[in-house]
Amino acid sequence: MRLMTTRMESRKLFVSFKMSEVCNLECPYCYFFFNGDESHKSNPASMSVATAERAGKFLAEGARALEIPTVSVALHGGEPLMVGKKRFREIAETLIRTITPHATLQMGVQTNGVLLDEEWIKLFSELNISVGISIDGPKHVNDSVRIDKKKRGSYDRIVKAIALLQKSHKEGLIGEPGALAVILPGTSAKEIYNHIVHDLGLWKFDFMLPKDSWENYSPDMTDFIEGFSLELLECWLEDDNPQINIRTMKNFFAPFLTDFGVDMRINYIVDLIETITIRSNGDVSPDDSLPSISEEYRHTGCNVATSTLKEFYSNPLWTDLRRTVSTPPEACAKCEWVGYCGGGELITRYSKSKKFNNPTIYCSRNKALYSRIRQYLSTYIDLKEVDERTRRSNELALNELVLDS
Ligand code: SF4
Repeated sequence: MRLMTTRMESRKLFVSFKMSEVCNLECPYCYFFFNGDESHKSNPASMSVATAERAGKFLAEGARALEIPTVSVALHGGEPLMVGKKRFREIAETLIRTITPHATLQMGVQTNGVLLDEEWIKLFSELNISVGISIDGPKHVNDSVRIDKKKRGSYDRIVKAIALLQKSHKEGLIGEPGALAVILPGTSAKEIYNHIVHDLGLWKFDFMLPKDSWENYSPDMTDFIEGFSLELLECWLEDDNPQINIRTMKNFFAPFLTDFGVDMRINYIVDLIETITIRSNGDVSPDDSLPSISEEYRHTGCNVATSTLKEFYSNPLWTDLRRTVSTPPEACAKCEWVGYCGGGELITRYSKSKKFNNPTIYCSRNKALYSRIRQYLSTYIDLKEVDERTRRSNELALNELVLDS
């Protein structure tokens, strides 16, 4: 493998682990429930302990056979807390028992916070599980979409859960809680940033863009997201506080600042191609936004009970994805940011006619962010150094970035 240099030591298998395929909220933008993949309707509502056992063995054996030292499991749904505390503990303990003899196991849970209480936090603390909570902004924003089955907003319950998490973090029970917000049309980045950072005191967070493709995106929304992202960047720069950690913004900045920018790009690619989803029935598929595209990504024919990770990775679908992700779309060849962007997230590159050979639907936003960051950096560092780094990354992305299996 020609270019996997520093990456090999830190190689990780990322797993989106669908322990629950039901939710107590009904957010209309949810890509899991409302983006074309209906298999949650026939899959078990909660993963059984027997399936978790098989999944643990599948991951352990895969990590061992492919020499991947770390398995990072995101306990996901639906809403993962809907499996109940007893089942949750059994599943998490099963994963610890089966995986840790073969690989380092990192576990995190992403919850909507509605069911969270002190007992849950004790459980996370005991099992060393990090916690991320979803909130879309102040009450009027959050409650316009994050609603339950009775159409009631979830904001008050989420804020209570955040306070509990922060108290437990201060007491040393759990790590710093993270937050995840979905960008909603017509909202103000400044208002949402200020609410999350300054009102709620959440300093580790990220914003999620709609996981749309060329088949269903809205140009108005991508324009809006460009403006939102630039406004968000300005808020962050204005605060000038390195402890405020917005993952996406850090990722946009990082390649400008370090000679390891090229390695970071490779890391990003490897992360993408080593991200799998395990459904509540044990089915295995690629990154969990892709099953919305078509049947072949939903039902790969691979299940933790009957296949190995190595077999899954040799599936033509997967080999095709590996090639795709390491090759920028043709239309990006002349882009000055191709080495950093590489064409964007897979789902956002997809169209029926050209598959993944399109620039991301967020191309204009990415260009705007990179340009603004370059301009910002000119006040602090020599642009010659920055531009040389960019040039090297571009050259690599276009000419050399070939990942062997
Ligand atoms: S910014 Fe646009 S053109 Fe440039 S690499 Fe990304 S998707 Fe391609």
